[in-house]
Amino acid sequence: MPRSGESGVVPNRLGVHAGVWVGDWSPGSARYAIESSAEIGYDLIEIPAVDPREVDVARTVRLLDSSGIDAVVSLALGADTDINTEDAATSARGEALLGSAVDFARDIGATYVGGVTYSAMVKYTHRATAASRENSLAVLRRVARKAGESGISIGIEYVNRYESNLLNTAAQTALFIAELGAGNVVLHLDTFHANSEETNLASAVRDAGSRLGYIHASESHRGLLGTGILDFAGLFRQLAESDYRGPITFESFSGAVHPATTVGTIGIWRDPWTDPALAAREAHAFLTAQLAAATQSIDAA
Ligand code: MN
Repeated sequence: MPRSGESGVVPNRLGVHAGVWVGDWSPGSARYAIESSAEIGYDLIEIPAVDPREVDVARTVRLLDSSGIDAVVSLALGADTDINTEDAATSARGEALLGSAVDFARDIGATYVGGVTYSAMVKYTHRATAASRENSLAVLRRVARKAGESGISIGIEYVNRYESNLLNTAAQTALFIAELGAGNVVLHLDTFHANSEETNLASAVRDAGSRLGYIHASESHRGLLGTGILDFAGLFRQLAESDYRGPITFESFSGAVHPATTVGTIGIWRDPWTDPALAAREAHAFLTAQLAAATQSIDAA
């Protein structure tokens, strides 16, 4: 059901990252994450890409159908699957991984694959080169074409300087997407990363412009929404002014949920919460309230 505000339908669908609930996609984890998300009222769940040959895809589809929620898929390339590189073998592994994520999305009925899809999510020790950037663009053009055949969009999630050397701002990303030149590639804005690199969240939304297609709502400390230093009111006001209609997905990580490998990759050195249901419920209420407040402030203006 669409939520209604003073002026009618508030169009944004709300999502939750599966990583709030689980650290793997075993049958039990999949059921718990999907059913818990639906129960709270989320419209979609973001599932980290897995090799579709290694999971029971049909089971995920059945769970999504019976829970009545949609899925999107996300991934981050690693050092050995980087396409922001001049090394052909590494790039080929990255292209294969992106292709596999698109296959997984297609197989579970998802129409979006986003994340750090353009570079490795690592601390680089050098600037991106013109050649590595060109390679990333070339690979993504092919991946976007393949994704388009299944009606899937590709999201480019820029991240902070410690997690990529290629795209750290909305302005850089909008330019990158314009050069990419595929209609099914959108800008994915994560508030945690934007907070590190942008003037403010509203200016990031303006810089993203019409390319903005997906949002990760993540606090300055990646914990519970509304308990950090981010100006969510300013963000939501700008989203309403810009008439943003895409999904807004809660992203938060705690070592209470994740295995040591993920903890190390994402840098979860503290546990901001221990109860996933509480975090997800509070985030849903927070995002719903922010959307309503922003709609009202636009109506009043
Ligand atoms: Mn994110």
